[in-house]
Amino acid sequence: MPRPILATIHVSSMQHNLALAKARSPGAKAWGVLKANGYGHGLERAMRGFAEADGLALIEVDNAVRLRELGWKKPILLLEGFFSPADLHTMAGYELQAAVHCDDQLEWLEAAQHDLAERGIRFHLHLKMNTGMNRLGFTPDAYAAAHARLRAIACVGDITLMTHFANADDIDHPLLPITEQIRRFERGAAGLPGQRSLSNSAAVLLHRGLQNDWIRPGIMLYGGTPGGGSAEEFGLRPAMTLSSEIIGIQDVAAGEVVGYGSRFQAEGPVRIGVVACGYADGYPRVAPLGTPVLVDGVRTRLVGRVSMDMLTVDLSELPQARIGSKVTLWGQGLPIDEVANAAGTIGYELMCALAPRVPVVEG
Ligand SMILES: *Cc1c(COP(=O)(O)O)cnc(C)c1O
Repeated sequence: MPRPILATIHVSSMQHNLALAKARSPGAKAWGVLKANGYGHGLERAMRGFAEADGLALIEVDNAVRLRELGWKKPILLLEGFFSPADLHTMAGYELQAAVHCDDQLEWLEAAQHDLAERGIRFHLHLKMNTGMNRLGFTPDAYAAAHARLRAIACVGDITLMTHFANADDIDHPLLPITEQIRRFERGAAGLPGQRSLSNSAAVLLHRGLQNDWIRPGIMLYGGTPGGGSAEEFGLRPAMTLSSEIIGIQDVAAGEVVGYGSRFQAEGPVRIGVVACGYADGYPRVAPLGTPVLVDGVRTRLVGRVSMDMLTVDLSELPQARIGSKVTLWGQGLPIDEVANAAGTIGYELMCALAPRVPVVEG
């Protein structure tokens, strides 16, 4: 028998969450963002979950090709663009759109333009503006010139104006509020034609009314929130449930310690449940004492250090718990954001880190 650990992917939740994102952004089309293997949910499953999206967006060129091979006919966008001149041929062959964020990419396009144009290729590109994130993109001052240079390239068709927010989940960020990023975007894009694409999940959830032709939600489609807030309050449903079972029980006397490093010491007698889930399954090793865990649907707490294949929970309030009792690490009944908050990280990281050894089913 395999270990009892299991990840259940709820494709219908992804469909629901996408519909919700679209309803919050009237008039805008939606990319379903499925980079990083659909945030850990599986590329093909995410593709089905986002069947009603207007396009799919990701980072990995090979997975973009796979989406075409899986039969996706609508647009596909490479959010970081092409990583080498060779990628331009892949884009041409599979009809991929791409972001353009730096001069090198412009040079590669210029060098390849006549070959590609002769073959009838007209790329739809997304010119990225750096409005303060300072990762990818042209500054507002350099943007119009980059736009003109791009427009002059023979194999370039439509150009969408695009930026990405650093703090859309933090309304009053003292250093870079979203209002400042929008101000910079408007300044850099002033007078330029083209559709606009601004909003990630945080902006879709917290800044309705932004002028978007295309939104780019990711985390919300999987039932997580960008800032760790309540997904349920927004009507989002979890798309991944990580579950396991109790595989051992110890009645531990007062003063005894539990697990590696003996990090938990029993103040009184305590009943400890051993769960078949560890950091080699993607559960965060840094999760501290008190991180919530559900046993038979009842909330209890993590105790002791998470090890590679097991973690330990307090069953003192769960006298009926036994070997085989169902355990939920996150998902339905226990928001992933809550577990992530407790572990000092974000739901994104937990989803993406689901380990390959965990069997996945749909339900
Ligand atoms: C990942 C990504 C998104 C989606 O972000 P979420 O916070 O998951 O909604 C949107 N735009 C770009 C450019 C991205 O890289």
